[in-house]
Amino acid sequence: MHNSFKPHKRILMGPGPSNVNPKVLDAMSKAPLGHLDPQFIELMDEIKSLLKYTFKTENESTFVLSGPGSLGMEACLVNLVEPGDKVIVCVGGYFANRMTQIVEKIGGNVVVVKETWGRAIEPAKLEDALKTNPDTKVVAFVHAETSTGALSNIKQLSEIAHKYNCLTIADTVTSLGATDVYVDEWNLDAVYSCSQKGLACVAGMSPIIFSERAVQHIKNRKTPIQSWFNDLNLLSVYWSGVKRIYHHTAPSNQFYGLHEALLILKEEGIENAWRRHKENSAKFISKLKQLGLDPFVPEGERIPNLITVKIPSDTDEAKVRNELLNKHNLEIGAGLGELAGKIWRIGLMGYNSNEKMIDYCVGALKDVLNK
Ligand SMILES: *Cc1c(COP(=O)(O)O)cnc(C)c1O
Repeated sequence: MHNSFKPHKRILMGPGPSNVNPKVLDAMSKAPLGHLDPQFIELMDEIKSLLKYTFKTENESTFVLSGPGSLGMEACLVNLVEPGDKVIVCVGGYFANRMTQIVEKIGGNVVVVKETWGRAIEPAKLEDALKTNPDTKVVAFVHAETSTGALSNIKQLSEIAHKYNCLTIADTVTSLGATDVYVDEWNLDAVYSCSQKGLACVAGMSPIIFSERAVQHIKNRKTPIQSWFNDLNLLSVYWSGVKRIYHHTAPSNQFYGLHEALLILKEEGIENAWRRHKENSAKFISKLKQLGLDPFVPEGERIPNLITVKIPSDTDEAKVRNELLNKHNLEIGAGLGELAGKIWRIGLMGYNSNEKMIDYCVGALKDVLNK
């Protein structure tokens, strides 16, 4: 006999997904709509408008891909990069490294600007790479590198890239909604995010934006886009214009959830949300320090909504995470790649970025670490 699935009500304080506002889940339980229903098209337009607010952009090419953040990453790269194009990727962690893998699959020529894991990308390194590679077409970087906890100054990286006539691709998967992002002011050409991190929704949607310059670049490509699903030209006939044409069956209930999450963010005010995440991050870090736990990333380079913590040397880190889960119902994240076993990753995102959750997490850590 099979029974209906009843998930545990976990406290999710890892790098995402996090707990979402119950209003988001309520919104998702409403009746499905057809993907070309006039009311659904209105919802898409509303989401577009809320995303423009959230991304701080006026770009008309603002869509949501029905898939996780990785799909957005692939979409930005596959639309802007042609086989043989030189692409600089600034790599200071696991997710930027994923970008290099995608560029290679497309047949692009990757140049890596390497940064120490846990540090913001040093802008001078990008400038050096551009001087040695003046034929670079695209520069890609991650704003909030969730694998390490480091936040890069992508405004500065973008300025440098444009000085050398490159298009820029920015990963705002963890930053969007929780940390300052200004797509237009920072001159970003293709930007993607996801729904389950800074935007505080459930997983499975990827907002993306293309600047007018990026759209023109795509129109003037010499070779076809190497993806059907992610071809901007095909996607845009579903997402814009008076007459919408079927591209794929958009998951209506997911979209209801995203709409609600974006609305909650707008009602708070995006600048207020940024401030809240910064303040709570500072409070959390000072409490962690009292437990003898130190942040992994130097001050001034930290992602406010994703705090990475050095694991004390005498600690069985997997045992700690298991006990947090089994005894306190609390999930935190392990280290990824070269930081596996060295750090924990703790999310204070969206609905969870508040004093109550800080105290819960600190209390649970204190108990499990026997402090
Ligand atoms: C999580 C993450 C991704 C991938 O997003 P998914 O939704 O897991 O596909 C990409 N980039 C960064 C910086 C991330 O944190």
